[in-house]
Amino acid sequence: MIKCKHATQMLSEKLDRPLSTKEKMALAMHTAICGPCRQFGKQMETIRELSKSYAQAKEPEEK
Ligand SMILES: [Zn+2]
Repeated sequence: MIKCKHATQMLSEKLDRPLSTKEKMALAMHTAICGPCRQFGKQMETIRELSKSYAQAKEPEEK
């Protein structure tokens, strides 16, 4: 079982790179039993959504 430190690290890396199947499984298993890490994951997704919409509002023609 991975540790919280590893789980939170993967949760933030997930925003920058796709996780491998092995990593996704380890993360899913950890968050299934660890409330704080599950919460952290949700926060990271919220932050990502916010920064994404902010970036889009600022630079709508990036692509
Ligand atoms: Zn944890």
